[in-house]
Amino acid sequence: MFENLSERLGGVFDRLTKQGALSDADIDTALREVRVALLEADVSLPVARDFVKRVAAKAAGQQVTKSVTPGQQVVKIVHDELIKILAGDGEPEPLKIDNPPATILMVGLQGSGKTTTTAKLAKRFKDRMGKRVLLASLDTNRPAAMEQLAILAGQVGVDSLPIVKGETAVQIAKRAKIQASMGGYDIVFLDTAGRLHIDQMLMDEIQAVRDIAEPRETLLVVDGLTGQDAVNVATEFDGKVGVTGVVLTRMDGDGRGGAALSMRAVTGKPIRFVGMGEKMDALETFEAERVAGRILG
Ligand code: GDP
Repeated sequence: MFENLSERLGGVFDRLTKQGALSDADIDTALREVRVALLEADVSLPVARDFVKRVAAKAAGQQVTKSVTPGQQVVKIVHDELIKILAGDGEPEPLKIDNPPATILMVGLQGSGKTTTTAKLAKRFKDRMGKRVLLASLDTNRPAAMEQLAILAGQVGVDSLPIVKGETAVQIAKRAKIQASMGGYDIVFLDTAGRLHIDQMLMDEIQAVRDIAEPRETLLVVDGLTGQDAVNVATEFDGKVGVTGVVLTRMDGDGRGGAALSMRAVTGKPIRFVGMGEKMDALETFEAERVAGRILG
């Protein structure tokens, strides 16, 4: 997911570490290249600018140029700063799924991979934690999407709320909540409707559902291939309905990875998972340390 960025940074740092002694100008040049590499990966400009500024300040503070292995020290600083922009103040708390039944509200634009991700998460909680999971689709405008969720539920071996024609999203949310309590489920996922663009009707509907469902987590699913747009979508959703975490999908594609790097810094929201393919087990947790390691190769 970070192949290009990783390659670009690798090139910059190879040159630095091979050079032996470094001048301030060498470090300046390298950091300028880092900035360009970040921008080409579609990291947002303020984030890239800030990042490089912090690395430069740290390198100056640690008197990197006087050290025996200046290049390696710069790489170490970049590594630490990458972890900081990926994780913010630290790795997030575990998802709040205690006190069953816990409701998780899934939100996002149509085509972002929301339904697929809902099923992947259900599988993960069932297989790894032995949770009893119920899935409910609230996408009343798209019967096919409702059926799709039921099919995926069957594939991953969890239950889905029976579809009742003519119900509103809020009615389905209420029924799901009752069913989750009566049926002894640990987690109920509400897969809200998506639209091609953010619109007021969608947001009103999600707010109404949220007020009824009282979710412990509201996870926003965004397409990682869309780079900075993914971050803009996250900012808007968070402003309107309040998001507790983000899932970036299609990170198996040839996207440039910028969304992953900007998300936390711009929105303050943690990326929880990344989608790595269409299969039901193609979902990874997002850990800053591992991601930083991947970027730096
Ligand atoms: P929704 O409209 O947001 O519910 O989107 P869907 O869940 O129906 O997904 C749209 C398409 O994206 C489907 O063909 C999925 O298989 C595909 N998809 C979802 N997540 C990923 C991912 O992480 N990687 C890849 N390559 N495809 C994905």
